[in-house]
Amino acid sequence: MKRIVILGSTGSIGASTLDVVSKFQDRFQVVGLTACTNDTILEDQIRTFHPTVVALSSPDAAQRLRARVDTTQVEVLEGESGLCEVARVPECDLVISAIVGGAGLKPTLAAIQAGTQVALANKEPMVMAGHLMKQEAKKHGVTIFPIDSEHSAIFQSMEGHRKEDIRRIVLTASGGPFWDWPATDFERITLEQALQHPNWKMGAKITIDSATLMNKGLEVIEARWLFDLPVAQIDVVIHRESIIHSLVEYCDGSVISQLGHPDMRTPISYAMNYPERIPLLPPLLDLGKIGTLTFAPPDTEKFPCLQLAYDALAGEAGLPATLNAANEVAVHAFLNNQIAFLDIPNIIQETMAAYHPAPLSTIDEVLEIDQWARRTAEEIMKTCMTPV
Ligand code: NAD
Ligand code: MG
Repeated sequence: MKRIVILGSTGSIGASTLDVVSKFQDRFQVVGLTACTNDTILEDQIRTFHPTVVALSSPDAAQRLRARVDTTQVEVLEGESGLCEVARVPECDLVISAIVGGAGLKPTLAAIQAGTQVALANKEPMVMAGHLMKQEAKKHGVTIFPIDSEHSAIFQSMEGHRKEDIRRIVLTASGGPFWDWPATDFERITLEQALQHPNWKMGAKITIDSATLMNKGLEVIEARWLFDLPVAQIDVVIHRESIIHSLVEYCDGSVISQLGHPDMRTPISYAMNYPERIPLLPPLLDLGKIGTLTFAPPDTEKFPCLQLAYDALAGEAGLPATLNAANEVAVHAFLNNQIAFLDIPNIIQETMAAYHPAPLSTIDEVLEIDQWARRTAEEIMKTCMTPV
């Protein structure tokens, strides 16, 4: 029986993880759950999965939850410190890191520092502080299993091969809802259109990141640290069908990849059961029926966010954290109908241009850059806001 904690259990990855747990109850026991403000969903999850400890970021939401659950059965913590406490409960074998954004950095790090294995969906902390996360993981003997489908595919395609034989890895990208649109139409993109992803059903932030292609940029940075590869060995290809989840090219010209229907339960369950595979029984891949798989090079003129991520990796060490923070601010504003779609890359680019090199050898220093970049992006946003 594997004992698990899910950070961000009320979100899209959290729900898919609990779906895997409910189908394989003989394999998993949920010991801890966390959420931001949604005490109603968390209450349902407590009644179904009986964790011993939960935490909500919002103290008000935690207060409401305590009034409704039997606190002798489940401890209800609150705030960031509460989330970190759940992340480091000793009676846990695997922490599923599925919070969205930089808010997941401290709880994920708490799990790593407690020496607990981590299955990572929450890519933003890797973008902000990948070198420190990997350093801590090494120090505490922790393996970080990727959940992001591309990184899971690369992880699987590297199994049984020598890392020094890798020529490059290629992340596939669906291209999002606007891939085929002419650039001249981008200024009239609406929030509703941007929230319609062609292949995946995900949380709002990553859905917008997929529409701008920033999600792929974040994934390039995530891959750089997860697999310890130089950026020159990390490429992206547009693959509209999301069937090939990513590829590894070796020095003899062989290309190994992992395929499957786009369903996050596959990479989640792989990370949860590694090295075993469990019979999830998703719809099986019928390539004869699919017929055609298509590929195209990425278009960084139409989608500048991907280029900005490459620029961040090539530049000063604090630029990825700056890019991530500015993106979080801009996407949040876009989701609140405060800015237009085309403002998102502009805000990020201007924030990156305002960055002055700062020390980056501790998590506190990363968080200082993060806070500076958020304030700067907010200021820039005021000047470049397009009426929507
Ligand atoms: P989501 O918005 O559906 O869920 C986010 C979860 O994090 C919720 O439980 C929410 O309560 C919690 N949360 C949000 N803000 C918080 C805060 N400030 N403090 C504490 N908790 C907070 O997001 P998602 O789509 O499940 O994505 C989660 C992460 O996984 C993201 O980093 C995303 O990039 C990554 N990811 C998601 C998918 C997917 O299919 N959804 C695929 C690959 C990677
Ligand atoms: Mg992905």
